[in-house]
This record gives sequence, structure tokens and C-alpha cells, in this order.
Amino acid sequence: MPFDPPASDLRFAGVSMPDASLRSSPNLLTGLRRGICRTCPACGQARLFGGYLAVLPVCAVCGNDNEQYPSDDFAPYVTIFLVLHLMVPFLFLADRTWAMSALFEVGLAIPVFLLATLALLPFAKGGVIGFAWAVGVTRNPTANS
Ligand SMILES: [Zn+2]
Repeated sequence: MPFDPPASDLRFAGVSMPDASLRSSPNLLTGLRRGICRTCPACGQARLFGGYLAVLPVCAVCGNDNEQYPSDDFAPYVTIFLVLHLMVPFLFLADRTWAMSALFEVGLAIPVFLLATLALLPFAKGGVIGFAWAVGVTRNPTANS
């Protein structure tokens, strides 16, 4: 039978316990800034992701449940919106400036779009999670009430 030490004993084992007093009150700009920086929206001190897009379920610093904020399809929508609005003007400018074949333009544009999308997606997902934290959107709305 495994032995689970009480929470008070974990402090002496060198493991720091999350401190809920480090959480700030929800604010839209704070949530967006912390999310885009890929940190916990509640405290801004711990990493939000454990991998490329895997959200750490519980903040190591403040103990906030970061997995409760949905970002399912909205983060890719935001990413596609940003990439298209950032890249399309350059495509038009390149088309008007240089005489490139259509095949070369497509061959150049697709990898650039792909890399820009993959680069922006974690920041967009963090921003969406920060937005959800700020406005109080959770997967289970009855859990916080
Ligand atoms: Zn936190």
C-alpha cells in the first residue's frame, strides 16, 4: 500500500506547494499578455505549456487549473486569421514586384504559410487561454460557481 505523506511534509522534502495567493484577479489585458507569453494566466510566473501545445493541467506556482479553459478550435482560427492578414499583402507585393511563375509562387508561399502557422499557433493558443481566463469561460461553467 503506497504511503502518501501529508501536504505539510512535502515542504520539508524540497517540494514547494502551489500558493493560491499569487493569483491575480481576472483582467483582459493581463490574461492576453500572460497567455501570449505562454505563462499561467492567473499568476504569470509558470509555464503554461508542457510541450508544443500541451497545456500543463495545474500551475506549479499558483495551483490554478489551467486545463479548464477551452481553446479547442479558436486558437487555429486566430492563427489562420493572423497568418493570412500578415502574409497576403507580402504575396501581392511580391507578385507585383518580381515576375515569378505561379508555380514558383505557390512553391514558395506554401512552406512560408506552414512555418508561420506552426510558429504562431502556441502563442495564439496561449492568448485564447488567457482570454478565457479573463472572461471566465471554462469547460464546466458550474465548477466555479
Ligand atoms: Zn499560475
